[in-house]
Amino acid sequence: MAVFEYAPAPESLRPAIRERYGLFIDGKWASPAGEGHFDTINPANEARLAEIAYATPTDVDRAVRAARKAYEKYWRRLKPADRAKYIYRIARAITERGRELAVLETIDGGKPIKESRDFDIPMAAAHFFYYAGWADKLEYVLRAGREPSPLGVCAQIVPWNFPLLMAAWKIAPALACGNTVVLKPAETTPLTALALAQIIEECELPPGVVNVVTGDGATGSALVEHEDVDKIAFTGSTEVGKSIARRLAGTDKRLTLELGGKAAHIVFADAPMDQAIEGVVNGIYFNQGHVCCAGSRLLVEERVHDEIVVRLTERLQTLRLGDPLDKNTDIGAINSRAQLEKIQELVKSGVEQGATLVQQRGDLPARGFFFPASFFTNVHPSHRIAREEIFGPVLSILTFRTPDEAVDKANNTPYGLSAGIWTDKGSKNMWIAQQLRAGVVWCNTFNQFDPGSPFGGYRESGFGREGGVHGLYEYLAH
Ligand code: NAP
Ligand code: MG
Repeated sequence: MAVFEYAPAPESLRPAIRERYGLFIDGKWASPAGEGHFDTINPANEARLAEIAYATPTDVDRAVRAARKAYEKYWRRLKPADRAKYIYRIARAITERGRELAVLETIDGGKPIKESRDFDIPMAAAHFFYYAGWADKLEYVLRAGREPSPLGVCAQIVPWNFPLLMAAWKIAPALACGNTVVLKPAETTPLTALALAQIIEECELPPGVVNVVTGDGATGSALVEHEDVDKIAFTGSTEVGKSIARRLAGTDKRLTLELGGKAAHIVFADAPMDQAIEGVVNGIYFNQGHVCCAGSRLLVEERVHDEIVVRLTERLQTLRLGDPLDKNTDIGAINSRAQLEKIQELVKSGVEQGATLVQQRGDLPARGFFFPASFFTNVHPSHRIAREEIFGPVLSILTFRTPDEAVDKANNTPYGLSAGIWTDKGSKNMWIAQQLRAGVVWCNTFNQFDPGSPFGGYRESGFGREGGVHGLYEYLAH
């Protein structure tokens, strides 16, 4: 198939980035107690972007105290309609600064600009708009007659794959319910969380209502262990999620966990095949596969296996890998060297265990962290690539013969976050969806998100829901 060369179309905006960022505590920018800083880099070229403050347990303590004071003094006492006005202001400011935020997200984390511009940032704004509308209607969230009351100080820890969006998923419902927040962004992607802190400053939220502490896992750990935190909302790996659950056992802190996944994406022979192929591509290659709900285990009906492999092989060659700031780029940079090495190690295990690797052709950029769009055929359900989350642009293809076998294989995982089904038969779609043990099931589509729709997992994918009315339960006492 002919592949046309595109002229480069780089995004030209270069947002102002400070040389060095402090911590955002009690409405002010503060130096960390330990004077320590670390660099955040652009994973597409390994250039240093800024120096970021490293928060010690002393800083975490200051942030939690500021959040407690703001909670008692202003936020819980504020009229709900007035809380809504602040949240609405944040939503407006994110929209107004959308282009700048999209570039920041892309240079700090490596995702293609078309994704940060068209998905991450508008969706982050949409969550603030949505929850602003709920702030004065909370009595409709709980059972009739129950008075909605906030939990207090919420510690919120987010990963690097959707930095601003994950912060929005957490902060917007927490504020709407009257809680105050200490947010800990991931070490490799702090810039949009810090830009959000600037926005919150400009929106004149009372000091301490939202605090941002940057650092690494130890900073997150200090936040989890702080005795004056009422709730922990964590998104990240299952391993760290489990360690947090163990540490909180026996305390009265509330916890929600949004963890990893290994979603089944099921394609029946009667599926609308053009759409299904695009759904599969979107399901695994969106955001370089750094997606907790990525459709990373493709289950195809045996008699269309060969056709699907041929079509996917062709489609891989049309994906454009390279500069994330180029508006034509489909596959950007892998978020960090550590993540690249993890992907390489798992792909090597796939080859060693006997699966067949198919990859997009072409040279990778000389600098930065890149991995070609890839898939495996001849995958056995016991292979590591069929069981472990790769969190990269790598799909494992398995087959099934009957709908029952599809369900059995789909549920043969310790995870339960998402799943996808492609079939022309509506009744088959519904019958399968009801049997899949996953928090979200997409039928004849994939990766659909809306602030009004709850998202979350069960089993090793965690518990609790974010988004929709369900997302509000997690921030109210009941
Ligand atoms: P991770 O290592 O668990 O890190 C997530 C966050 O926790 C980061 O901010 C991290 O800080 C912090 N952290 C690390 N160790 C900690 C500890 N001991 N105590 C408290 N906080 C700690 O996860 P990741 O590898 O960055 O992120 C990818 C994972 O997130 C994948 O498994 C993915 O499936 C999952 N994820 C789930 C969802 C969902 O909604 N279910 C959404 C997105 C991602 P540093 O990064 O600074 O070390
Ligand atoms: Mg970075």
